[in-house]
Amino acid sequence: MSKTFYIETFGCQMNAHDSEKVIGTLEQQGYARVQDEDAAGLILYNTCSIRDKAEQKVFHRLNEYKKLQGEGKKFAVLGCVAQQEGEKIFEKAPYVSMVAGSASYRNLPEMLRRLEAGEERITGLDDRQTDLTFETEFTVRSNPHRGYITIIEGCDKFCAYCVVPYTRGKERSRTAASVLVEAKKMVDLGFTEIQFLGQNVNSYRDPSGRMSFAELLVAVGELPGIRRVRFTTSHPRDFTRDIVQAIDDTPTLCDHIHLPVQSGSTAVLKAMSREYTREWYLERMSWIKEAKRDISITSDMIVGFPGETDADFEETITLVGEVKYDAVFAFKFSPRPNTPAVTMADSIPDEVKSERLRILMDRQREIQREHYGRHLGEVQEVMVESYNSSRNQVVGRSSQNKTVNFTVSRIGTQIVQAQPPIGSYLPVRITQTLPNCLVGEATADADAVPFVPIQRVSDFVVLN
Ligand code: SAM
Ligand code: SF4
Repeated sequence: MSKTFYIETFGCQMNAHDSEKVIGTLEQQGYARVQDEDAAGLILYNTCSIRDKAEQKVFHRLNEYKKLQGEGKKFAVLGCVAQQEGEKIFEKAPYVSMVAGSASYRNLPEMLRRLEAGEERITGLDDRQTDLTFETEFTVRSNPHRGYITIIEGCDKFCAYCVVPYTRGKERSRTAASVLVEAKKMVDLGFTEIQFLGQNVNSYRDPSGRMSFAELLVAVGELPGIRRVRFTTSHPRDFTRDIVQAIDDTPTLCDHIHLPVQSGSTAVLKAMSREYTREWYLERMSWIKEAKRDISITSDMIVGFPGETDADFEETITLVGEVKYDAVFAFKFSPRPNTPAVTMADSIPDEVKSERLRILMDRQREIQREHYGRHLGEVQEVMVESYNSSRNQVVGRSSQNKTVNFTVSRIGTQIVQAQPPIGSYLPVRITQTLPNCLVGEATADADAVPFVPIQRVSDFVVLN
């Protein structure tokens, strides 16, 4: 087998970052990455099974790989579908040689050696047995400015609709010391933004007992050179007030909290086993709204959970109006294998789910149209991400994680057409607000325009 590999990744940010770690491990084992499956000796497919007909899609894709099997290539299926379907994958796609869930990636070097030795059915299906995390110093990072750090893996919450506890194993946190070492290394490499990842990032428990989640956020936020720290996803049950305090006290912590509610109805939340009520959730919203900083709040919602009545759905709509989210990621309930919700009575017809989804998204769009208006005239710090040459605009992201499209046409008295470097931070005055983004113009005088990344938020002076 040639030591070249091609990897395809589906799903959430956790999966994308798992792939970064897998790529780093493969490269460390002497493999070279190629961008074309025809050129690869090993083809890896990192799968997601959170919604829809994920399993069918995987088998469909594997079927397409079939034609390549005669060329001596090897195939590996990773991620949630691998964990969920296990050895069934070998039966349905006999040309696959390796099936591994994310809880077993730390054994990848050994699994690769067995693959190279010609073994034909290698499994890494640790399920909920392991207490270990996938720590690797060889992580490859696809974005040179924003780097991801997994601080907690797996999940022990067992929400009635969700496959994650079965596919990603039990909840296990990394030590604060190892997270800080990784963060420092990233700063040395020039990263200015760090994002903590975990299915429930705020359920973090330092195994050494040294730091709480909020303290870890502050410790990373205070590393010299760090400008932005984000974290996703938080769970309402473990959301503590010190997180809001940490954001208020530490300018490098981004003013954005993603706190998925899933439903506005306490009855539905109970059926979902979310372990909180509407009132509990709204109390956490009030903590965030009482903060000194304007902290943006976003959420995930599921419509059409079994038994959700019109009145329950109406409670979701009123909750959205009460909270005034800056973004909502809404999904139709999708029955997932092995989860309790699959066998629940009172399933909701697909047309009703679609209609509820439409109503929710329309309502949320109205809210965003109105609520984004609060930013008009503000000067926000924006990190440059790309350019839109057709519109002659720079595309960036605010601390609140909003997309900001802006022009750089005037610096002091000078008229310029500038493309500031990707990864640099600029002050931008917001001149227009749309439901999904902000529009503005870079604003500063000639001496102050920081067209190269500058070191600390506290050094950031908005002139004008
Ligand atoms: N741990 C996070 C939490 O508890 O909110 C969410 C992680 S999950 C990977 C991302 C989102 O997918 C969930 O917030 C939920 O809205 C959605 N989701 C998960 N399972 C689903 C299902 N069976 N049907 C529809 N949406 C689902
Ligand atoms: Fe899934 Fe619930 Fe765990 Fe989130 S908390 S990953 S929704 S089981």
